[in-house]
Amino acid sequence: MSISIQFAYLIASILFVVGIKMLNRTKTARKGNMVSAIGMFIAILATVVQVDAISLVDILICVVIGSGIGLAIATKVEMTKIPEMVALFNGFGGLASLAVALSDYWLNSQVRLLEVDSIMGISVAVGIFIGGITFSGSMIAFLKLNGRISGRAITFKGQHPINLVLLITAIVITVIALMNTSDPMFMLILVGISLLLGILTVIPIGGADMPVVISLLNSYSGMAACATGFVLNNNVLIVSGALVGASGIILTQIMCKAMNRSLVNVLLGGFGQTSGQVTDDGEQVSVKEVGIEEAAQIFDSVSSLIIVPGYGMAVAQAQHAVRELSELCEKKNISVKFAIHPVAGRMPGHMNVLLAEANISYDKLIEMDDINDEFATTDLVFVIGANDVVNPAARTNPASPIYGMPVLNADKAQTVIVSKRSMGKGYAGIENELFGYDNCLMLFGDAKQTITKLVNEIKEL
Ligand code: NAP
Repeated sequence: MSISIQFAYLIASILFVVGIKMLNRTKTARKGNMVSAIGMFIAILATVVQVDAISLVDILICVVIGSGIGLAIATKVEMTKIPEMVALFNGFGGLASLAVALSDYWLNSQVRLLEVDSIMGISVAVGIFIGGITFSGSMIAFLKLNGRISGRAITFKGQHPINLVLLITAIVITVIALMNTSDPMFMLILVGISLLLGILTVIPIGGADMPVVISLLNSYSGMAACATGFVLNNNVLIVSGALVGASGIILTQIMCKAMNRSLVNVLLGGFGQTSGQVTDDGEQVSVKEVGIEEAAQIFDSVSSLIIVPGYGMAVAQAQHAVRELSELCEKKNISVKFAIHPVAGRMPGHMNVLLAEANISYDKLIEMDDINDEFATTDLVFVIGANDVVNPAARTNPASPIYGMPVLNADKAQTVIVSKRSMGKGYAGIENELFGYDNCLMLFGDAKQTITKLVNEIKEL
């Protein structure tokens, strides 16, 4: 590989790292995305110019088809369907790694009739194995998220021992395959095992735990790409794969913490059997309703306000109305902060993205750990389409499916107003005892319409 190609790969790798660093802050995130995209463009260009096995026209046709499909999906997808799209993309990443590793193995062992060296052999096996798990696991995650198969944890007896046997078989098959490089049959068996293992490790995972799985599969897709980088002896693929693998694992760990799961639990699969779309048969909580006028008067009388956004805000697309409300309150000298739960909404950073889109200053968005102590000294909490992330049962009720999950202490504020359409449950499918608390008032209706009316009413006061 020429020095100029290596140099281009180095520049691309640096741009990836800088781009990821810039994703750290909402203010720089868009530019970070652009920086990484430029890095990717350089990497693709450097790769394309050195390819001699395929014509440039063939490559261009594939690029146009692939980009067209990606563009069509990305522009059409609704914000609430992003996790499904990520699952699908992860799966394709895994499939690409599997295909590259398999074809390279085939070329080396069959066509070129060369001995496959051990590093390359192991890389091929890892690429196939992780790529296969990522592909089938992501497809199951996709089907679960869009409701084509049950979102609940599907478990059966002996699940873990079967997974363990499959894992051991995969290792044995890999060793045999590397010792018999002239027979590609063994690598094909490895493909089958990895696909099966992907299915078996994701089906036992329940609805509310899916975000962790998506993030983990994202990390797997990076690891598979990294292994493929070794197969192809391509440094930029090794670096970018490692970046995706490492950042996916870090995100997985953050989400595990937010959902009170251990990473070991995730890696073993089979968690989330008690949470996720569980319907409890508990008694209906009796609630106090508040009207727009009364709610406006409460807003007008407070000096501190914490807004808790949740999935319902995304559904209602209420973020712009929320910004208007927060600006109006600030004009009335009310201190306004936003409390962001790490798994509010349906994807990591969901609330941050929506609020940033509405130009709400990033400084006002406070992470759960930093704001939880402030609720007790706050006059008013306005919960907008959030449910599970403010359910006190997670702290107080050991029988609750979400017991142990860290939640926002909204109930500790002097007054809580909850904007939602009905007494509908949240993602975990359980009642929220907060709604029945003495200090809690329900403001029923679609969040966007309600907040727009509320803003008009406050303006009149
Ligand atoms: P949630 O518990 O799912 O509750 C959302 C609430 O929004 C519902 O109770 C619903 O009640 C209300 N709502 C829906 N449409 C609305 C509208 N148009 N206007 C007003 N309210 C509306 O949401 P959350 O508190 O944000 O918690 C997130 C949950 O999703 C957690 O259980 C989390 O584990 C899970 N999850 C998170 C991710 C992630 O990565 N962030 C991914 C997948 C799952 P009504 O029907 O009565 O209106």
